[in-house]
Amino acid sequence: MKRILIVGLIALQVISCQSVKKDANLVFPVQAVRETTPVESLEDAADDACIWINQKDVNASLIIGTNKKQGLCTYNLQGELLNNDPVGKVNNVDIRDQFYYKGDTISVVTASNRTNNTITVHRVHADGTFENIAKDAIKSNLNEVYGLCMYQNSGNTYVFISGKDGEVEKWQLIAQEDGVVGALISTISVGSQTEGMVADDELGFVYIGEEDVALWKYNANNLEENRTLVAKTSDVNMKDDFEGVTLYKQENNTGYVILSSQGNNSYAMFDRVTNQYIKSFTLVDGEIDGTNDTDGIDVTSVSFKDFPKGFFIAQDGTNMDGEVKKNQNFKIVDFREVLKGL
Ligand code: CA
Ligand code: CA
Ligand code: CA
Ligand code: CA
Ligand code: CA
Ligand code: CA
Ligand code: CA
Repeated sequence: MKRILIVGLIALQVISCQSVKKDANLVFPVQAVRETTPVESLEDAADDACIWINQKDVNASLIIGTNKKQGLCTYNLQGELLNNDPVGKVNNVDIRDQFYYKGDTISVVTASNRTNNTITVHRVHADGTFENIAKDAIKSNLNEVYGLCMYQNSGNTYVFISGKDGEVEKWQLIAQEDGVVGALISTISVGSQTEGMVADDELGFVYIGEEDVALWKYNANNLEENRTLVAKTSDVNMKDDFEGVTLYKQENNTGYVILSSQGNNSYAMFDRVTNQYIKSFTLVDGEIDGTNDTDGIDVTSVSFKDFPKGFFIAQDGTNMDGEVKKNQNFKIVDFREVLKGL
């Protein structure tokens, strides 16, 4: 009887080890140095972000965030709100520069808009205002648009947009005299609910998060090609849902892929070239509160006065101000802190 009990206990331990799979030595804490003005909408509302680099004055760059109940928001690098534009229920947002439009090179911002199941296309101005430059609404064929990211290759600009049923569409944005139109290039099925995505323009890949299953890498130029597994939600230090994905770019096309492992409130880092898992970090309470339940993330390696190695942004599920719970917002992390932890 005693032996059975001991064997049973050992078996239980083995099972629990398997279900946890945590290596605390590979997890380090960092603190945010700034946070954005809370969004106007209550409860789960802030979702994703991207960064516009102001080429004329890099310190006057902008953070663009989504309030998925209302529209797009812009913030300066202090995190102060500059503009709220009620463009619709935009969930994910991304940006690319070098888009040729009406004889000009502009930065184009796209978002997955659940109000009308479209890809919204905006030009962003230095004061944080937006200009809708879509000729007509670019309607997706997906049942419900959800995730989105952008990709540039050989002078062309593309949008990947995903749906809750696990399908991903690839669109090309084409500038015409009277506005931008979209051309559907291909549609694939990833499997199940898919949101977070990021494209690696230089290496020609797109990373797609299948929330309950895995992070995958696809050939961004041919989604039909065999995909590569980057991480499963059951791997060490991972926990579903897999949410936002972003790319920290360093010299010679090296850097890191960063993934919001939402289920254990951490951010997993992978080598950009080999996709090997390196370490994870958490955003803990300091001057500014830490994060939990993060959806969208973004990062830049551009050098700013206050952030010589760039900064990381994370949506925060519970934004506290001391003991007071505020509307959700985005946290800003000096990337030197993350590099130190590696
Ligand atoms: Ca959320
Ligand atoms: Ca989301
Ligand atoms: Ca984004
Ligand atoms: Ca989720
Ligand atoms: Ca999600
Ligand atoms: Ca928080
Ligand atoms: Ca706060």
